[in-house]
Amino acid sequence: MKKKIRLLGDEVLRKIAEPVSPESDVAKKVVQDLIDTLKVNEEFALAATQIGHLHRVFIINPIWIEDEKKRKPMIFINPEFLEFEGEQYELEGCLSIPEIFEKVKRAYKVKLKAQDLSGTWRTYSGKGLFARAAQHENDHLDGILFIDKISPFRRKLLHGKLKKISSTTKDGVNVG
Ligand SMILES: [Zn+2]
Repeated sequence: MKKKIRLLGDEVLRKIAEPVSPESDVAKKVVQDLIDTLKVNEEFALAATQIGHLHRVFIINPIWIEDEKKRKPMIFINPEFLEFEGEQYELEGCLSIPEIFEKVKRAYKVKLKAQDLSGTWRTYSGKGLFARAAQHENDHLDGILFIDKISPFRRKLLHGKLKKISSTTKDGVNVG
């Protein structure tokens, strides 16, 4: 089911998501909701927290596959990073913080493991955009947003814009 994407100021974005059994109905529902929601928005990646499910699941749409029909969302259940290597400093955005793009420091290469819906642990290695997305989405599962990782100076400059997004959310809180 397509869900509403939670915006900055919604307290669910600050909660820590719990592990989930991949073969459970809950996991199936979370994955389906993520797929339905991401597709409509034609976006790159989405974490369960962003649609209000506090379970450790995110998906990445493999946009590097040119033929859109061949793209199948990659599903990461209970992800755990195994290795980080190098550094990248690129612009990032977030569906939960619309229209804000800021440079964020991330590892350039990552290796992680995650379960699929059958419960099988799979290992993924990737660099660049994939590595950035995996780190960004995994942060969501720990209640961390990319604006937490920018310099205090940049955050100060964005204060007004961030406050505006928060104030549109029902449970809006001040951002500082
Ligand atoms: Zn995000």
